[in-house]
Amino acid sequence: MDHVDVVVVGAGLAGLAAAHRLTSAGVRVGVLEAAPVVGGATATERIDGFRLDRTSALLSSAYPELRRVAALRDLPLATFSPGVLVHQGGRLQRTGETGSTPFALRGMGGAFTVARALASAPRPRQLDQARLSASLARLAGTPVRRLLARPERPVADALYGRGLPARTVHGFLHPLLAALLADPELSTSSRCADLVLRGYARGRLCVPAGGAGALPLHLAGSLPKGTVRTGVRVTEVAVNRVTTEEHGEISCRAVLVATGGPAAAGLLPGLRVPSYRPLTVVHHAAPEPPATGPSLVLDADRGGPVAYTAVMSEVDPLRAPGGRALVSSTVLGAPPADADRAVRRHLSSLYGTPTDDWELLAVHHDPEAVASMPAPHDPRRPVRLLAGLYVCGTHRDTATVQGALFSGRRAAQAVLSDFGIRDDRAPAALTAAA
Ligand SMILES: Cc1cc2nc3c(=O)[nH]c(=O)nc-3n(C[C@H](O)[C@H](O)[C@H](O)COP(=O)(O)OP(=O)(O)OC[C@H]3O[C@@H](n4cnc5c(N)ncnc54)[C@H](O)[C@@H]3O)c2cc1C
Repeated sequence: MDHVDVVVVGAGLAGLAAAHRLTSAGVRVGVLEAAPVVGGATATERIDGFRLDRTSALLSSAYPELRRVAALRDLPLATFSPGVLVHQGGRLQRTGETGSTPFALRGMGGAFTVARALASAPRPRQLDQARLSASLARLAGTPVRRLLARPERPVADALYGRGLPARTVHGFLHPLLAALLADPELSTSSRCADLVLRGYARGRLCVPAGGAGALPLHLAGSLPKGTVRTGVRVTEVAVNRVTTEEHGEISCRAVLVATGGPAAAGLLPGLRVPSYRPLTVVHHAAPEPPATGPSLVLDADRGGPVAYTAVMSEVDPLRAPGGRALVSSTVLGAPPADADRAVRRHLSSLYGTPTDDWELLAVHHDPEAVASMPAPHDPRRPVRLLAGLYVCGTHRDTATVQGALFSGRRAAQAVLSDFGIRDDRAPAALTAAA
């Protein structure tokens, strides 16, 4: 650490992605992480043979950074069934399949029209599905720069002007976006919602196989040995040094703060960060898996505290020991009173099965989980504060795994540019990112 060019503060996804880019360009980097393990929000813990994520960490297989970051190209992903299962009016219905349609349509500029869908789908529900598929396909094929040029308002208002029936909005778009944006009231910027929905439409919902923690571990494993130091808390930063609680001062040529928004605002007085939304993830062990298979289940009825849930051991068998099932559920907000019982009661109605014998494994509550993105939202907030001082994290971008990784790339590029190191990949990466 005495001979590093850049100190990265924080080994979450943003900091590790930045370190990966910098070390790939030959820059000597030290990553200092206060916690005993890397990963920040995306860490996974092991309890009784179960692998429990602190976050829900839903990804789209189409997130560009999963392909662009060399270390993540071989990351094994566990995919959900196409579409989602929506619980509405007391029953589950599959909707929002994108697996075949958008891929077949990619690049066809909307050749799949509602009129063609009408011809092949005469019944009302099929017609809704066909319209939805066509709308998702159009979104999948829309370039990011066009989405970012659209008028911006709260997504709850924008959804009703898209020519889709109200029942599709209530029964699919609202619960899906609430889940992906951690925003039950949909006050998020419509542009951010479009970016996230575009990611959904272009790929498949998935999670890192073996737990969300596999993602940061993969990144950390790609860095030169000794790059990451855990259990080191940074208390002050300047353009050419950091001060740590454990080892005093460390000198360097540049500092990149990748701590998450609230901690970054503490280290960088005057930095504007958004407010954060609370989230609670509840894990249960079940003796038998409910019959939904590897599907994401959304509650359109809002009949209890759970916004979405899945039998994670069906999506990714590595997450539970043999003969038991792992059910992971997300509450958008603080945990309800008597969280175990309230969540199990709701899950019993969502899965249509008794849950009395389900065992509570863990409740993870994060009061500052997801950066809010109200309109107007700039998804490319500056990452260079001064020559020598940089910042990255979801609060500079979109509050997703893609946003964390991409903000790290942007910050690394800013450092390389100030160091006078040419980065041939920069222009394409900056314009084509979602
Ligand atoms: C509960 C939850 C659910 C989410 N669900 C999804 C989802 O479904 N899909 C999706 O795409 N995204 C989701 N996200 C968003 C996204 O995954 C995370 O917000 C993202 O991983 C944040 O990455 P980061 O690197 O910016 O920050 P963090 O992961 O917060 O990493 C910051 C790191 O900095 C360290 N640190 C802080 N202060 C210091 C210091 N002073 N010195 C040294 N180290 C320090 C922390 O210990 C931490 O390891 C979710 C987030 C949460 C919390």
